[in-house]
Amino acid sequence: MLGMIRLGFELPGVGVSWRKTWDRALGLEPMELAEVDLCCKYFAVAMEFEVEGVDVVRKGRFVTLVDMALGIQYAGQRIAAGEDASIGFTEHEEFLHFRRGTGDQIVVTSSVRPLVAVVGEGELVGAFRLFVRDAYLRLVAEHPGLAANPTVACLRSRARVKKPGGALVWRGRHYGGMSDSAGVAAAVEALRQIGYYLERDRQPTHRVKAYRRAADTIEGLPAAEVRARRRAGTLTELPGIGPKTEAVILEAMDGATPSYLTKLESAAGELTTAGTGMRAELKADLHLHSDWSDGGSPIEEMARTAAALGHKYMALTDHSPRLTVANGLSRERRLQQLEVVAELNKKLGDELDGFTILNGIEVDILDDGSLDCDLEILARLDLVVASVHSKLRMASEPMTERMVRAIANPHVDVLGHCTGRLITGERGTRPESEFDAEIVFEACKQFGTAVEINSRPERLDPPKRLLSMAVETGCNFSIDTDAHAPGQLDWQVYGCERAEECGVTPDVVINTWDSSKLLEWAAS
Ligand SMILES: [Zn+2]
Ligand SMILES: [Zn+2]
Repeated sequence: MLGMIRLGFELPGVGVSWRKTWDRALGLEPMELAEVDLCCKYFAVAMEFEVEGVDVVRKGRFVTLVDMALGIQYAGQRIAAGEDASIGFTEHEEFLHFRRGTGDQIVVTSSVRPLVAVVGEGELVGAFRLFVRDAYLRLVAEHPGLAANPTVACLRSRARVKKPGGALVWRGRHYGGMSDSAGVAAAVEALRQIGYYLERDRQPTHRVKAYRRAADTIEGLPAAEVRARRRAGTLTELPGIGPKTEAVILEAMDGATPSYLTKLESAAGELTTAGTGMRAELKADLHLHSDWSDGGSPIEEMARTAAALGHKYMALTDHSPRLTVANGLSRERRLQQLEVVAELNKKLGDELDGFTILNGIEVDILDDGSLDCDLEILARLDLVVASVHSKLRMASEPMTERMVRAIANPHVDVLGHCTGRLITGERGTRPESEFDAEIVFEACKQFGTAVEINSRPERLDPPKRLLSMAVETGCNFSIDTDAHAPGQLDWQVYGCERAEECGVTPDVVINTWDSSKLLEWAAS
């Protein structure tokens, strides 16, 4: 039988000498805390790591939280990749080894003690991810400036939690309670994480919006006001805060992981087991929307999530003006967005390890194949996705001409969701548009336009028979989410799965390339 895991940490209480490692750090500039000091000097916690009653780490042993979380994060990634892993302790010569046993069992041993414990891979990786997540949240809750510290930022990951079975133990509260601003920061983060999991789970954006809106509301208030309202019981009088979001805020402000978040995390499994090889090759997402058009979240939130999912860059592709139902951007708003993106790149570049936002557009292909955007703007954009959104039932011949004209436009880089089909979901279903696929894909090859593999579950476009035909033709591809909310950015693996099944190789997928290569290709 596999052992149940208890993995967690506790902050040093009043009178414990380790408490100084927190007090001292709180007086310092968070950006200036170097990795070596974070790992050796600051933020000591008492560890608990137990498998079925056996101590993997001696109970109550003090370790520095950042060091332990980084070690656990790295070990978890290796184990999830099918490799063996070890965790060392900075202040001691002991190593914990994690080796693959039979099936998906992981055997845990120590380099200095007679320890043998057996755990399931999924349970262990899940418990590790929760530990890292809670370490990050706790550090940022105690010391909000740490979110911008590059070492601590490494812990910020919204990667999927795989079959978690580990019970995370987070007992007691920090001495003296959390500061107001730390409590509010923890609540904002928890509300946004709930939003992420709901979106990933295909909940409609408007339903998820309640959590994201509540996060925005309290983030915009002075922390003292949030506390005062909490005492007076008037949090729910604020716009966008109801009983459910209030419960999350109260738990988070008390230093606990909100029970709803815990529940969502436990329920979140792998979206699909296939496609992970291709997904690991992707460096970007090249089709996604923000709240500037019909997306549900600000550009910054999309960028932070894309970076947390491992991307190096993304193309922001809000809709063109004619798509008024999707709040398409007018020329003025488009120009304004270029400035906002430039500012964001300055702000986020360092914090997100060089992550960049490319200026893109999802431009409507008009009935005659011309594009719904003036040439001057198109020329200024880094990446142009062109898609058909209207007159989808046009006869095959004019539809083929319409698409080929757009594909041949030198500004167009990617042909978005080429058949327009809808196979499931809130908007109902819709058949594929009719066109001569051989001619369309040949044009894509000739004119250097990549065929998009759209990962949205209700689209999964193109269908496999057409995808295989495009592979035969020798086209380039772009595997994108077409995300309208942060949690949907994790859907890319659905497209990867189909790409693998149809024989697409990473070298012809344009978002496996570095941004410099992609930009050069897009400009040519
Ligand atoms: Zn579209
Ligand atoms: Zn789109």
